[in-house]
Amino acid sequence: MRTKLIAGNWKMNPSLAKGRELAREVVERTRGLGCEVVVIPPVPLVQAIGEIVVGTHVGLGAQNLHPERSGAYTGEAAGSMWVELGARYVLCGHSERRQLFGETSRFVGAKVAAARRDGLVPILCVGETLDEREAGVTEAVVTEQLVAGLADVGAADADGIVIAYEPVWAIGTGKNATPEQAQAVHRFVRGWLGQHLGADAAERIRILYGGSVKASNAKELLGQPDIDGALVGGASLEAAGFAAIAAASA
Ligand code: PEP
Repeated sequence: MRTKLIAGNWKMNPSLAKGRELAREVVERTRGLGCEVVVIPPVPLVQAIGEIVVGTHVGLGAQNLHPERSGAYTGEAAGSMWVELGARYVLCGHSERRQLFGETSRFVGAKVAAARRDGLVPILCVGETLDEREAGVTEAVVTEQLVAGLADVGAADADGIVIAYEPVWAIGTGKNATPEQAQAVHRFVRGWLGQHLGADAAERIRILYGGSVKASNAKELLGQPDIDGALVGGASLEAAGFAAIAAASA
């Protein structure tokens, strides 16, 4: 039985004061829902938000990491630094990183391996663009991202990795995949995991859906057999709505 995971990617929002308020409210409103809840603030807020959530039922995540342990990588952060601040999760290969910052699948794979090495749970994001979906190559695109992203991951890592299927055309657009569209790709991903890591690992790995998840569509999406939670962007910036998504996972 996979415990549902509801993670809020705050992206480059909000201010420190608003972030603290949001984190406190998320802690208050998501108590006892029976799912795992994680907040993923932007870099300058991670420490302050960690001071609020670490030690509560709400987990802490980071939006990115560099594959190296330390060194001359101006502007970057190492996984061990996030661990020191109490983080447990890190996003790897979010489509905004792939598209806006030129991250290749191979580089994303190095990040996933570094996250495991440093004691973090990578949330590997995969997903196709609208053009790719319309060209009928969704499975090929997702496969390439899984092959490279999980190149250094074995069956023994099953409890320490999370996949997020995030169709690029659904991110921040208000246009979510239908529950059937999402379930079809999730089932495909679980099948791929079964072939490459074994049936037991595939059953244990959580696969989140991300892309315009909100309180009004969460129940149907989270009710699909292979959808084990949600990676929420815009709707995670408002505590009541985010908590309603978490409640919908029950
Ligand atoms: C995301 O950024 O991962 C995301 C899914 O964003 P949104 O919920 O705003 O579509």
